[in-house]
Amino acid sequence: SVVEDAPALTDGFQLVIDALKLNDIENLYVVPGIPISDLLRMAQAEGMRVVSFRHEQNAGNAAAIAGFMTKKPGVCMTVSAPGFLNGLTALANATTNCFPMILISGSSEREVVDLQQGDYEEMDQLAIAKPLCKAAFRILHAQDIGIGVARAIRAAVSGRPGGVYLDLPAKLFSQVMDAAEGAKSLVKVVDPTPAQYPSAEAVNRALDLLKGAKRPLVIFGKGAAYAQADDTIRAFVEKSGIPFLQMSMAKGLLPDTHPQSAGAARSLVLQDADVVMLVGARLNWLLSHGKGKTWGKPGSKKFIQVDIEPREMDSNVEIHAPLVGDIASVMEVLLKGIEGGLTPPTDWMATVAAKREQNVAKMAPKLMSNASPMNFHGALGALRRIIKERPDAMLVNEGANTLDLARGIIDMYEPRKRLDVGTWGVMGVGMGYAVAAAVESGKPVLAVEGDSAFGFSGMEVETICRYNLPVCIVIFNNNGIYRGTDVNPTGGADPSPMVFVPGSRYDKMMEAFGGVGVHVTNPDELYRAVSEAMDSGRPTLVNAVIDPAAGTESGNIGSLNPTSSVRKM
Ligand code: ADP
Ligand code: MG
Repeated sequence: SVVEDAPALTDGFQLVIDALKLNDIENLYVVPGIPISDLLRMAQAEGMRVVSFRHEQNAGNAAAIAGFMTKKPGVCMTVSAPGFLNGLTALANATTNCFPMILISGSSEREVVDLQQGDYEEMDQLAIAKPLCKAAFRILHAQDIGIGVARAIRAAVSGRPGGVYLDLPAKLFSQVMDAAEGAKSLVKVVDPTPAQYPSAEAVNRALDLLKGAKRPLVIFGKGAAYAQADDTIRAFVEKSGIPFLQMSMAKGLLPDTHPQSAGAARSLVLQDADVVMLVGARLNWLLSHGKGKTWGKPGSKKFIQVDIEPREMDSNVEIHAPLVGDIASVMEVLLKGIEGGLTPPTDWMATVAAKREQNVAKMAPKLMSNASPMNFHGALGALRRIIKERPDAMLVNEGANTLDLARGIIDMYEPRKRLDVGTWGVMGVGMGYAVAAAVESGKPVLAVEGDSAFGFSGMEVETICRYNLPVCIVIFNNNGIYRGTDVNPTGGADPSPMVFVPGSRYDKMMEAFGGVGVHVTNPDELYRAVSEAMDSGRPTLVNAVIDPAAGTESGNIGSLNPTSSVRKM
């Protein structure tokens, strides 16, 4: 018949799916609508995991953190204009954090957009995305889908990872081409993250500094966790005997309880170290830009920096020994370089260890408090036990005080398990990160959320219930932002902008969608409720009542808040 003789055909829908699958992209984080709904239906039919959110920013955050966890680009798909803009916030955040991500948005027809003739959801998305991400591409022809997807993947993961925007106009999806030609047009990216070694000269320069150091320190950032060079990094640390600090999302690269961890002696090591080696950590605001009081006497330190991005060197202070390369390769060479040559700084390590023990002992009684209403320390003492007993669980954390205190109190034991507010210190990543953490790891997830932080993405509890994900959300509910005690200074009926409905029952939100809601008022109850949730794997929300007077303005970063010298608030 005519049908049998006709050449087999493929189309834009199919080629996008084939191109992603060929490159081992298995999960899509999406919000459906025109023009991508059929694409998502087909992707699911073809065996991809399609996780459908309630808001694009949360889908985008999920894709971003999937990129961090897996070293492959996380893929988010949205509709045009407003959906695209919602996803763009997450794409910018991914780029800022150096997470590989691809935002794919459907868009309107070029002819209409370029003449500004007022299409449905008209917007020049490519132009808008460009300054906010690492690279942005548009595909106009079905035969270019293979190369376009390959470019997007390579741009996201090579060099310093980041966010890539891929613009797919609606018309592309229905374009038809010969199936055999289509298959030939697909590209599997070869060696997407090539090994990059520094020169022998650069390595020797760094080794000389390390060998001459009396009080060396290594600082690992989330780039070191991302690099998945866990064994080499551990071998280097243990062979060298040097104390180390782990930035927030690097925690667990080595266990926080490792004898060389200086986490609980942070102030001391930052002030007194004479040689500091940064590995996948930037000297940005999170490290006080490498200068000022935190860093002791001006000029008292020499810096070694390991980073894939050459322009990161000298960003804030002079880097005496730059090591430009990928962390796995650089650490491998450094490990070889210290064999036999480096005397571990045992006196310095002993000083650091003594300070650490002292600080840990000071903190211990606060973590054992079973007081009600709970303060942050009592509640976090309970959650610390939860992670200690389940070191392979994922931990998501956002808030102000809830973040600052949890970061210090909850020890991490395995790499890439702690996901938090990152380089921007952004609120609103919680539920997106929690969903992806569950999907990508298959492990139980504990999301420790300030009540304010949770509000930015709270509707995704429905997503968590719908996909039956093993996520336990704990809301530290102190009735407000920073605290729940602010009042309207005029005495008027409106509440202060800093507070929420007092005594809110967030646990009921979870029950509305068939999950488990629990209301707790002391650390013992909190521990029991969370243990049960982590063991059962059922979607759970624990509303943990925290003293509204607990908490400080802006948490640990109150100094970033401008204050009026004329009027005290
Ligand atoms: P943190 O906030 O934990 O200090 P940052 O995000 O500031 O971490 O720093 C991460 C750094 O790691 C970035 O400068 C990035 O270029 C770098 N990086 C990411 N992946 C790699 C890699 N595979 N090899 C080398 N450097 C990397
Ligand atoms: Mg609060």
